[in-house]
Amino acid sequence: MAYEDYLEGEPVIVTAALTGGVHGKEANPNVPETPEEIGRAPAAAEEAGASVVHLHARRDDGERAFSTERFQEVTDAVRAHADDVIIQHSTGGTGAPLEVRRQPLRTDPAPEMASLDMGPLNRYDHLTSENPRAMVDDLHEEMRERGIKPELEVFNDGHLNEVHGLLERRDLEEPVYATLIFGGGTLSRPHPRNLLNAIDNLPEGALFNTLGFGPHQLPLTTMGVVMGGHVRVGLEDNIYFRRGEPAESNAQLVERTAEIAERLGRPVATPAQAREILGL
Ligand code: ZN
Repeated sequence: MAYEDYLEGEPVIVTAALTGGVHGKEANPNVPETPEEIGRAPAAAEEAGASVVHLHARRDDGERAFSTERFQEVTDAVRAHADDVIIQHSTGGTGAPLEVRRQPLRTDPAPEMASLDMGPLNRYDHLTSENPRAMVDDLHEEMRERGIKPELEVFNDGHLNEVHGLLERRDLEEPVYATLIFGGGTLSRPHPRNLLNAIDNLPEGALFNTLGFGPHQLPLTTMGVVMGGHVRVGLEDNIYFRRGEPAESNAQLVERTAEIAERLGRPVATPAQAREILGL
């Protein structure tokens, strides 16, 4: 993907990352936590322009849940309100073994997409995720068996090497879809020049999605639109609408980015268009 795709006015896939598992209502009371709250959010996000929802599950105390049962509750709740939006489950996790990380892939039906972290990372003081290659390959194998499209999460430049390595080790269905992520810790430093660099280092033909944490969400996703990429917004990655003003909802963040994309000449993709672009 490239600037030429922007000039062609190709549709942009907006992914809404609804809740995550790091911060919750203590950071912004509008972060959905229960299956019912998470289940209600996608319909509004889809109405605002999202075609994919990135889902985590949480326990009753708000902490992350990995179990198939809890993901099943979330996915059933989503489908009760939104029957068309593309569901993407997170397989990310800090300190969790492979058997735990596989659990979100085992709902019925399986999610159409799932995240696949490309390597080790630190976030904050207390979150380290090792993501060794053997685990990446095992998670990819189960996704392949279950017909789940991997969303390759590239947290830094080294992970771009891991994407190339994964393509050498394993058969990936085309198109390869990688999310370029910018933030603190061992993530790529959030600066526009680093997004250009990351795009440039992707494998030939790969599609990219753009993710910036906190105040970097708006500028980097806007740049992703102009560079012919896709974008991810939502309360998992950013709890503010603007400086000092907490976001009211995931839909509010999606709506702003959808409007920017439209004004820049790229319509937002419907779920059907997103399925076609991603080869689902
Ligand atoms: Zn996530």
